[in-house]
Amino acid sequence: MTPTFPVAPGQLFINGKGQDALSGETFEILNPATEAVITRCAKGDARDVDLAVAAARKAFEEGPWASMSATERGRFVHKIGELVLKHADEMAYLETIQTGKTISESRNIEIPMAADVFRYFAGWADKLHGETIPVRGNHFCYSLREPLGVVAAIPPWNFPLLLSTWKIAPALATGNVVILKPASQTPLTALRLAAICQEAGLPDGVFQVVTGPGGSVGMSLVRHAGVDKVAFTGETTTGQTVMRECANTIKKLSLELGGKSPNVVLGDADPEAAARGAQVGIFYNKGEVCAAGSRLLVEESIHDRVMETLIGRTKKLVPGDPLDPKTRLGPVASKDQLAKVMEYVESGKKEGAKLVAGGAPAKVGGGKGYFVEPTIFDGVQPSMRIAREEIFGPVLSVIAFKDLDDAIRKANETIYGLASAVWTRDVKKAHYVAKRLKAGTVWVNTYNIYDPAASFGGYKMSGFGRELGMHALEQYTEVKTVWVDLNL
Ligand code: NAD
Repeated sequence: MTPTFPVAPGQLFINGKGQDALSGETFEILNPATEAVITRCAKGDARDVDLAVAAARKAFEEGPWASMSATERGRFVHKIGELVLKHADEMAYLETIQTGKTISESRNIEIPMAADVFRYFAGWADKLHGETIPVRGNHFCYSLREPLGVVAAIPPWNFPLLLSTWKIAPALATGNVVILKPASQTPLTALRLAAICQEAGLPDGVFQVVTGPGGSVGMSLVRHAGVDKVAFTGETTTGQTVMRECANTIKKLSLELGGKSPNVVLGDADPEAAARGAQVGIFYNKGEVCAAGSRLLVEESIHDRVMETLIGRTKKLVPGDPLDPKTRLGPVASKDQLAKVMEYVESGKKEGAKLVAGGAPAKVGGGKGYFVEPTIFDGVQPSMRIAREEIFGPVLSVIAFKDLDDAIRKANETIYGLASAVWTRDVKKAHYVAKRLKAGTVWVNTYNIYDPAASFGGYKMSGFGRELGMHALEQYTEVKTVWVDLNL
């Protein structure tokens, strides 16, 4: 049995305190598995953002955070990770009821990884430093590595807590302060994290949460002259808007955007393993994964064997109650998402792709909830919409290829470049393909694995900047060069 927890109405978390939005307005948070209202949260706007930015600036410039040693800062970040684990059952429950992801994914994978992200970056806090530089003349030259200031973290709704930690942990570890604006559909774990930061004793104003719509709260943060950096994850089109707005204040910006990742199966691959990898690649978190292996590219010689196993496995993947620990596929996250997925299914049929599994909404329990059958289209042509556009749901497009060069050409035939995979028993081919794929991550004989130490991010229209790993630290620090005249 999954433990359940009461969910209070959500307030903004500003300067160490919960408070209502200045407008007094609230909005509903829905459970996509039942369509029931879970609770209501404060609907912030530009005025609440002003308050949060003022508190953040004060905390950054004058508060105890500003004068704290790097080691002590690291201890706070570590403590937050420990507390996320201590409250993991509750965090997992909240994540599942607001997103529809299965409790097995949230409790066993995502919440523990969120804790690990804090603990990983905590270790970096006192290991980052400047350098002395051997310059010309009688000068002493050194560099300082300094925090940027106020960071606005804007994550999407598919991994609400985990993708927030990818921003918050490195930002805090390097001495910044953070204002988190969770996706409007999924603020519950963000608000619980605010309470955890309080429990950890984090000084007021260092971590704040402003809930509300992207177009008002998100946009106000992006435009605000008191915000130094925006760390954004979301759709490519929203990222383009954010980037344009950031130009006005030349804000630092990192963008993690959409994907249409190729999962390439070469003729010599283990067909069972590749089929398993294809399934994990597209159906983990109901395909609502930026790095989902949504294009399965299969060499003609092995196509039928891989497809037979994959279709067999997919037919056994039955959507169900995401709070049941045995369920492996929950509902998509919202009514809009369901409509979008079904629209793509229709477009696939119309453009002549062959539907070989799923293709319809699924009925679970009493018939409520946004459930979709896991869906596979075979015989997909690269020109079809289902091969080019991000569906962000449990829909796989299978494309056949002739040889290695054909595979690489088709794999790279996309505006995106977030992730990719290759399945082969030939070590030379594996590295040949890994080098040629234009994507920020290449998995070889595996899919969808992550680690706080391994950087993640996009090529092309999947964004820029890297999260996780040591490269994330560059996104949250400035390098200052100091020259000292030593001439007597
Ligand atoms: P979205 O772009 O609609 O929203 C992302 C966030 O931006 C939300 O918090 C939203 O409220 C906010 N927002 C919306 N409009 C805004 C504006 N004008 N100004 C500032 N903020 C604004 O994306 P989504 O639907 O929440 O998430 C799905 C998308 O995210 C998919 O495209 C997916 O590929 C992408 N994604 C990318 C990664 C990655 O690491 N590259 C990871 C997960 C999801």
